[in-house]
Amino acid sequence: MPADPLHRATGPQRSATSPPSPGSAVSAVEVRRSARRRRTVSAYREGDRTVVLIPARMSEAEEQRWVNVMLDKLAAQESKRVLGDSELSERAQRLSEQFFDGRARPTSVRWVTNQNTRWGSCTPSEGSIRLSHRLQGMPEYVVDYVLLHELAHLLVPGHGPRFWRLLEAYPRTERARGYLEGVVAADRLPHLPAAREE
Ligand SMILES: [Zn+2]
Repeated sequence: MPADPLHRATGPQRSATSPPSPGSAVSAVEVRRSARRRRTVSAYREGDRTVVLIPARMSEAEEQRWVNVMLDKLAAQESKRVLGDSELSERAQRLSEQFFDGRARPTSVRWVTNQNTRWGSCTPSEGSIRLSHRLQGMPEYVVDYVLLHELAHLLVPGHGPRFWRLLEAYPRTERARGYLEGVVAADRLPHLPAAREE
């Protein structure tokens, strides 16, 4: 499994959006047993390690099960954490360096709430990029794709072959586009009829 190029600089080495799998570069997990703990299990990140606290009497099988549960839970929380505008700018800068040799240099990158029909937009003459708040809570690779898409527009206007060639450098372009198309399609699904009123 190739290393995920999208991990946060200070976060775990594994993307919060992919489940742990054997043999992947999962950050170290340290299980601490506590005699005082009876039923509760908790977990937190400590640098690039994950500490899982479990009751002392737990069996090996239960331990393994709980470690997996807690890793999934932490990953889900992390993918939901909303980036602030300054983090968004840093992220855009990193993506530009990683995929476009740093050539795309936005002057501002921020969230907006008045953009419901587009995921992102940019004004190349100003170098400004705006992302719809509707992306908040979506997987990181999707937010990164939209950022890269707008960054690419700072270099190439329109959606011609040159534009898509730029985005080919990002390995999750197709997956992210599929995700967003799925969200749009789900929005348009007719609502299930409410329970029949008697
Ligand atoms: Zn576009």
